[in-house]
Amino acid sequence: MTSKRLAKILNEINNILLPQVCFGCNAQLTRGESVLCTVCRHELPLTDHNFTSDNVVDRMFYGRIPIKKAASFVFFSKNGIVKNLLHQLKYKNQEQIGGFFGDWFGSQLKGEKLLKTVDVVVPVPLHPKKEKKRGYNQVSLFAQHIAASIDAEYRNDILLRAINTKTQTKKDRQLRWENAKDVFQLNPLIEKNFNHILLVDDVITTGATIEACAKTLYQIKDVTISVVSIAVVP
Ligand SMILES: [Zn+2]
Repeated sequence: MTSKRLAKILNEINNILLPQVCFGCNAQLTRGESVLCTVCRHELPLTDHNFTSDNVVDRMFYGRIPIKKAASFVFFSKNGIVKNLLHQLKYKNQEQIGGFFGDWFGSQLKGEKLLKTVDVVVPVPLHPKKEKKRGYNQVSLFAQHIAASIDAEYRNDILLRAINTKTQTKKDRQLRWENAKDVFQLNPLIEKNFNHILLVDDVITTGATIEACAKTLYQIKDVTISVVSIAVVP
């Protein structure tokens, strides 16, 4: 038995022995609930972004880089459920939270006319060293579930992160951009005949990361880019 399979079985046993609790309020989850209890689900600050009118994420990229359509699922706030969920997803090995958001947002995106032309869903990549340390890219499951919902292919081999950036929280926007612009590169080994790429991130703050990724992806001839994220900082 492989160690990965063993870990999966142990994890399942653990789930049976230890009742799952809500990431929002610690209440015990009932059958059929996962990640959040029904009460906390209702308290999530959903953005209600649709694909017919412009929103804050679209406007973030005006004059910076052409993005066909952008949307985020929830608003990020300094305190609250969303911050906690994203922290658990990113730093506490709770990868399934990405799947939870992806299923929910995916069910809304399913049937979106504007996304019908999307052929590939591409996550913002982590540097391989960072991904190895974390064990996963926190955007992967979210992106995979969205890809399944809109009948597109999930591809994490198109866009690569060439430089392992340090946390940039204290640097200003200009500096962030300077740091970000050479960070990403196209995989030279893959075919480059994509039509409409849906670029996916966890949290959009200044838009600098998306801008840098999109700039790299525009090296693909005649490509269109749209963007979705789990959260946006309002
Ligand atoms: Zn709860």
